[in-house]
Amino acid sequence: MMGDKYEKNCDMIKDTILEVQKQFKEALAKVQEALALEEIKNTFLGRKGKVAGLFSMMGEVPAEEKKDLGQLLNKLKIELQSDFDAKVSEFTSSTSKKEWVDYTLPGYSMPKGSRHPLTQAVDDMLSIFQRLGFDIAYGPEVETDWFNFESLNFPPNHPARDMQDTFYTEGGGILRTHTSPVQTRYMSKHEPPVRIVAPGRVFRNEAISARSYCLFHQIEGLYIDTDITFADLKGTIELFCRMYYGKDVKIKFRTSYFPFTEPSAEIDVSCFLCGGKGCRVCKNTGWLEIMGCGMVDPNVMKAVNYDPEKYTGYAFGLGVERMVMMRLGINDIRTLFENDVEFLKQF
Ligand SMILES: [Zn+2]
Repeated sequence: MMGDKYEKNCDMIKDTILEVQKQFKEALAKVQEALALEEIKNTFLGRKGKVAGLFSMMGEVPAEEKKDLGQLLNKLKIELQSDFDAKVSEFTSSTSKKEWVDYTLPGYSMPKGSRHPLTQAVDDMLSIFQRLGFDIAYGPEVETDWFNFESLNFPPNHPARDMQDTFYTEGGGILRTHTSPVQTRYMSKHEPPVRIVAPGRVFRNEAISARSYCLFHQIEGLYIDTDITFADLKGTIELFCRMYYGKDVKIKFRTSYFPFTEPSAEIDVSCFLCGGKGCRVCKNTGWLEIMGCGMVDPNVMKAVNYDPEKYTGYAFGLGVERMVMMRLGINDIRTLFENDVEFLKQF
C-alpha cells in the first residue's frame, strides 16, 4: 500500500509540473504592464509559490524516484526563471523606459566634433592674410611640368625634377611638389596687381618617418605690383608673425636660394616656447625656421608675360605641418595623417 501511495505522489507531481508550466506560460503571455510581473513572480517563483510547493512534495516520493523528479523540478525552475527574466527585459528595454525615466539624472553629452589641427592652422593663417589684403587662390594637385618647374625657373637638371623626389602620373602629370605653381597659374590669367595666398597639399616622394611624410600642406603668398620692394615683404611677414605668434616675436631673415626668387631668404622666428633662451623644440638655438621667401625672379615674370622692368613682387611659402608641430608640441608628423580620433580630440 505504501508503494502505491508513493507511485501516486510521483505521477501527481509530474502532472502538476506540466500544469504549473502551462499556467505560468499563459499568465506570462497575458502580461501587459511591468507591475503585473510582480504578481506572477510571487505566484510561481516566490518563496511560497507553486514551484516551491512542488519541491516541498519531494519528501513524499520514494528514494529511487527522487533523482529523476529532482532533475525535472530543477529544469522547471530554471525554465520558468529564464522565461520570466526574458519578459522583464522586454519591459525594461521598451515600455518601462518611458515609465521609469529619472529626470534628475544628468543628460548624455553629445560628442562635439572639431576641425583637424591642420585645418585650424590653415584657417587661422588664411584669415590673417585676408585681413592684410590677400585673396585666396587654388590650383590643381596634379600639375604640368611647365607650371610646377619650368615657369618657376627650375633649370632642366634641378634635382627636384628627379624621379626619386617627385611623383609622376602615368599621363606625364606631376603631383605638385609645392604650391608655387599656383603663382604662375594665377599670373597667367590675371593682370597685376596680384595679391594672393594659395593653400593646398603638396607631394614628395620621401621615406615616411616621424620627420617626413609623402604629402604635406603649404601656404604660398604672392604680391606683384609696381614698386614692390623687399621692405614690403619684410613688413608683411613681420605683421603676419606678430598676429600669429604674438606681438613679442622676433624675426630673422637669413639669405637662401630658391630658383623662383632673387634675392631669397629664409625666415626664423624667436622660439615661442622658450622665448629665445633655447629649448628642445628650437634645438637650443632660440630660433625656429618657419618659411622661405624672396623677390620674384624676373624669369618667372617673363614666363607669364609680365614686364619685369615694370613690375616687381615678392613670394613666400610656409609648411603648415611644421608650424603646427612646433606650436602643439607634436613630434611625429604621421599622427597628423592617421586620423586617430583619440589623438585629434585633444585639439
Ligand atoms: Zn626654444
